[in-house]
Amino acid sequence: MPARRSRSAGVQHGPKCLPALRGARTGRSPARSEGERPRDPAKRETLKRLGALGLLALVDAGALASCGPRVLSPRARERKVIVLGLDGLDPQIVDRMMAAGKLRHMQRLRGISRLRNLTSSIPPQSPVAWATFITGRDPGGHRIYDFVHRDPQTYELVNAVARTSPPAVSLPFGQWRVPLSSSRAELHRAGTAFWDILADRGIPCEVYRVPSNFPPRDTGVKQLAGLGTPDLRGTNGTCAYYTDAPTTAPAATEYVHRIRVRNGRAKGRLIGPRNSLRSGIPDTWLDFDLSIDRDHALAKISIQGRDLLLRVGEWSDWVPVKFAMVPGLKTVSGILRFYLKQASPHFGLYAGPINFDPMDPALPIAALPGFARDMAERFGRFHTLGFPQDTNALDAEILDEGEYLHQSGMIVDEARRIYHSVLNQFQRGLLFYYFSTSDRTQHMFWRTMDPLHPAHDARSARDYGLAIEDCYQTCDGIVGDALEACDSDTTLVVLSDHGFAPLYRKFNLNTWLAAHGYLALRSRAKTTGKLSEGADWNNTTAYALGLNSIYINVRGREARGTVAEEDRQRVAQALARELRKVRDPIGGERVFENVYLADEVYSGARGPETPDLIAGYARGYRCSSASGLGKIAPQAIEDNEGKWSGDHCIDRTVVPGILLANKPIRAQRPALPDVTVGVLDEFGLPAPDDMQGHSIW
Ligand SMILES: [Zn+2]
Repeated sequence: MPARRSRSAGVQHGPKCLPALRGARTGRSPARSEGERPRDPAKRETLKRLGALGLLALVDAGALASCGPRVLSPRARERKVIVLGLDGLDPQIVDRMMAAGKLRHMQRLRGISRLRNLTSSIPPQSPVAWATFITGRDPGGHRIYDFVHRDPQTYELVNAVARTSPPAVSLPFGQWRVPLSSSRAELHRAGTAFWDILADRGIPCEVYRVPSNFPPRDTGVKQLAGLGTPDLRGTNGTCAYYTDAPTTAPAATEYVHRIRVRNGRAKGRLIGPRNSLRSGIPDTWLDFDLSIDRDHALAKISIQGRDLLLRVGEWSDWVPVKFAMVPGLKTVSGILRFYLKQASPHFGLYAGPINFDPMDPALPIAALPGFARDMAERFGRFHTLGFPQDTNALDAEILDEGEYLHQSGMIVDEARRIYHSVLNQFQRGLLFYYFSTSDRTQHMFWRTMDPLHPAHDARSARDYGLAIEDCYQTCDGIVGDALEACDSDTTLVVLSDHGFAPLYRKFNLNTWLAAHGYLALRSRAKTTGKLSEGADWNNTTAYALGLNSIYINVRGREARGTVAEEDRQRVAQALARELRKVRDPIGGERVFENVYLADEVYSGARGPETPDLIAGYARGYRCSSASGLGKIAPQAIEDNEGKWSGDHCIDRTVVPGILLANKPIRAQRPALPDVTVGVLDEFGLPAPDDMQGHSIW
């Protein structure tokens, strides 16, 4: 399938400039008043120098116009656009619930705009899809292809959205390295965010919790980062569970800290960030004391001079902690919540992932500088982790369904409290607010509403069978909040990045590639190990890493590539043909709805991180997490008996998102970039040449 309405790359006028706008007039750039000065300091400086040389009028006006501010119509200046991102809201479920009268605010919008299915990205993964919406470009343009990419030199996984690195300059001092510069994080996303196009024309923008935006670039727009923002350990969320119980679920092992309770007292150790300022990069930690009253089902946690008293079943508020990186010189601040799960017969204390403290974040979780702190001063501390619902703890049976839903409820309540305040103060420009709860609830609770699911059981169906519907109703309330904030000058756009489907059967793509001669393994004994250790790269033609990405082992690109670049496409085509024929040995269903060649579906030049094929699984199937992480399993295909029971990292034709608005949507089959262009259109701005969409209005 060819790239959808792909356009030629925009003309770049230097690294800081925005792409040329479609239909930009080539006449003289309009006279600028003081109030219309470009926000970009580099552009301001250029204009100042040109002005001083008396050359402003002679400059190619078209080039300058593409970088500089525009004169907006009075209507556009007063315009308000609210974009509400509800991750993973599925059109079939929305339809069904609307028919039952359960989503009255969305129903009201449907009456105006009609409910449209929104075509997602290839693949329909949240980081990829939101980056497509942010930039109006397919992954070839924004360069986020999967949750994870691989380093072709090491075949190891790397973060697709951001790179973090320790201080570039540090001074050796005994066992320490004293930092002389700050830790760095860099956003990998290419292309221009649509809010930067608006801000460059003087339109105020605020962007909250949007995925694929960590760390946010400081372009003069207020932003709080979302999915992709790590915890202090650098992970998507690592909890700890302190217990004296002799056994826990096997999956909990990596999170469990065994403690010894004597006379009602115990000690716990909270593991903090790894210390890149010490040789060997060891973990940092801090110890805390526990006083346990089993008779009264109480525990006191004494941590860094603070005493917290929790009853069984009670959550703490955010607890600030500091980890010493260089004693007396450098600390890293975090926040976490404790939950006292039980006191007897065994003690059990859950410590949630340690979030960056918005009062003092060690990495830029927000832009403008100081914005996270300003928010924390206004609203109190809040979660900053991009994936705040602890799905790992539910999977590992550290939290049960009810406890998980309670945590999820606290997260959405906290986000919504800030959202209300932001909505109330919103005067003009763009407000883009994102909620993740619908995605996570569907991932974890699909099994409870689907009797066909291998992990379906009567108890969880009875107790939690309505968890997804409840969550959709919460989302409907969030839409209602936005509707209340709308006046006649406000456009409201509600979208999800993809829909949802059951995950019945897991496909280990690497096992299949090994069985079909594409992936060579060093010995049978290593077939349960890591690909990076067990693969015989010198005899490997193709391998899979990430949930949808397949790579040909290309000579000159991969460290031990075997396929010449000129043969890459031929090998990819042959593999795609073979994969399209794969059938489930049980039932005979097709495992793949589509298998795409990256060269045919992505615009722009290939980079070393670009996959060669993208697997589009059929409804009910998905790549196994093990395969995605580069592990081989004994069987290529097996039932999914885990709690993570719904998914969307399959073929985009199977899981479209939704699109609603408070004005008619004319596009019949809108895709994510069409919404991006539609938002610019609301402010009277044409889309840059390199955006792939057409306005939805
Ligand atoms: Zn998801």
